[in-house]
Amino acid sequence: MRVARTAAEFRAACDELRSGQARGLALVPTMGALHEGHRSLMRLGRREAHAVAVTIFVNPTQFGPNEDFARYPRDLEGDVAACAAEGVELVFAPAPDEMYPRGDATRVRVEGLTERLCGPLRPGHFEGVATVVAKLFAVTGPCKAIFGRKDYQQLKVVERLARDLLLPVTVVGHPTIRDADGLALSSRNRYLSPPEREQALAIPRALARAASAFASGERDPERLRAVAHAVLEASELRLQYLDVLDADELAPPSAGSALGVFVAGYLGKTRLIDNSILGVDAPPPA
Ligand code: AMP
Repeated sequence: MRVARTAAEFRAACDELRSGQARGLALVPTMGALHEGHRSLMRLGRREAHAVAVTIFVNPTQFGPNEDFARYPRDLEGDVAACAAEGVELVFAPAPDEMYPRGDATRVRVEGLTERLCGPLRPGHFEGVATVVAKLFAVTGPCKAIFGRKDYQQLKVVERLARDLLLPVTVVGHPTIRDADGLALSSRNRYLSPPEREQALAIPRALARAASAFASGERDPERLRAVAHAVLEASELRLQYLDVLDADELAPPSAGSALGVFVAGYLGKTRLIDNSILGVDAPPPA
């Protein structure tokens, strides 16, 4: 397995891995602190392509001034070992000035999809995500890029940017990987104290409640929201949003919309997000 530190080295290695291989290259962009969710993305990459490249970059532009950029978990050695254990061919771990050269003045903004959910709560976040992903796609070249549905709004933003900028990238979504008790895996879960982690289970339980109401025939977005809200209200989660939206547009649903339930909130200093696309995702264990 090769670990590239510069964009030029990574681009050349991607070209090499693609050459003469009809099944091409899979790309798994991450911020490191790799867990089983990330590893499952790598395994999907392996099924989708001939070779797998993982990027590890804690992207400064997607963190707000009061967010956890400085304390975000970093463990390059452990991450490289995890990639090697998954049989990954190539890792790209650039320094910040490799991704943002001096004088960098270009940003990518995706409109519409970023108007709700995390968009207004994290000003600049999706611009940072879209910018870094556009750069990663530019250095990688043609590939299948694997993104988790755990960050569903991010997945939609990335799909749209690949389409709108005519990039030679097919974006593939991967289902959310959860612990046995239902909590979605996240690099930020390690911030949770044991009592906070217990309280966090209200999130998958609320999603499971909405999924079960949907399975019983409920289609009214307000009533679906209400059953999920009843669970969250009884917990210590400081709710930022609980929205039932059109799952494609991330906008208020109309008759016949595919429905997604989207949650964000804080336990202590830790921000958690989760979602379930009703009738599509396997509901979290209740
Ligand atoms: P991150 O390192 O948190 O930026 O995540 C890198 C990629 O892994 C993103 O596409 C995430 O959506 C995905 N990911 C993170 N956690 C999970 C999870 N529990 N299940 C599936 N994908 C995940």
